[in-house]
Amino acid sequence: MKEILVVGGAGYIGSHMCKYLHEKGLQPIVLDNLSYGHRQAVQWGPFYEGDLADRSLLKKIFARHTIEAVMHFAAFCYVGESVEAPLKYYQNNVSAPLTLLTEMVEHNILNFIFSSTCATYGEPEQLPLLEDFPQNPINPYGRSKLMMEHILDDLDLANKMKSVCLRYFNAAGADPEGKIGEAHNPETHLIPLVLQTAMGQRDELKIFGSDYPTTDGTCIRDYIHIQDLAQAHHLCLTHLLAGGESRKYNLGNGNGYSILDVIKTAEIVSKKKIAYSYAPRRPGDPAALVGSAALITQELGWKPKFNSLESILSTAWNWHVNHPKGFEEA
Ligand code: UDP
Repeated sequence: MKEILVVGGAGYIGSHMCKYLHEKGLQPIVLDNLSYGHRQAVQWGPFYEGDLADRSLLKKIFARHTIEAVMHFAAFCYVGESVEAPLKYYQNNVSAPLTLLTEMVEHNILNFIFSSTCATYGEPEQLPLLEDFPQNPINPYGRSKLMMEHILDDLDLANKMKSVCLRYFNAAGADPEGKIGEAHNPETHLIPLVLQTAMGQRDELKIFGSDYPTTDGTCIRDYIHIQDLAQAHHLCLTHLLAGGESRKYNLGNGNGYSILDVIKTAEIVSKKKIAYSYAPRRPGDPAALVGSAALITQELGWKPKFNSLESILSTAWNWHVNHPKGFEEA
């Protein structure tokens, strides 16, 4: 069985990736420091608790396993926090992975799949975003991810490593079998907050900004199901393991939904009324982000299964209703 190191494999996206790899006959090896991840989410392979900048732990893992590729999910991802604490973001999202990449090169592990983000584009001039549009991030989170893309470009040019950078739009939803789902603490992401409000765990949702230049004044985002993300990573892994060239792909559904659209659809899915009020804009938020994933569809045959907001929210709702305390009671 081919062994794949999944850094951040106890987190939301990483754990769904591990399940998907396992279903495809590959062996995920998880490295996670559990700063945000959950031990209970690691169910499909060996687990190493520790940091991606822990050189001796990396050496131990690389000596013990025949790692064919590394997938890196262990970044901080809160736009608002990154504006307030930029050093935390540059430290964890840029500095720490340098140790990982250095050890990979040292051990001749030269395939890397990187979680980049639509936040690298900044405030778009045109939608949907294509991969060759200008990247002018407007917050430290987006800048930290763009720095990593540049580092990976340079590694490729130096013939040191092949990589695929996947620029995610808004990852959402949960494992359709309901084994794992989204559970952040504290929760800051829109969809879990909306669903927690529907469940009565929160009094109301605060909508950050009502005066954006969008149809209803609230921010527009492109929501992509977690399993569709995992499928894309697997296609990229197959591409790299077959000797394919480095690539950068958008991963979105190409449909934009406002915050009010999300609330309305969540009301349909949950059959509950969701209270909300307006609050000031959150620093660092672009008005609208919608991506075209035509390139990965054309080159690798990626085809999202969950292409309606309702289908994405249904899997998330199923997870939240059955795990009202996230992983705590698992
Ligand atoms: N958002 C909001 N209220 C919240 C959390 C998020 O209005 O309590 C908005 C946020 O400002 C953004 C959108 O919902 O416009 C998606 O935010 P999220 O944090 O889920 O993902 P991001 O786009 O930052 O990756």
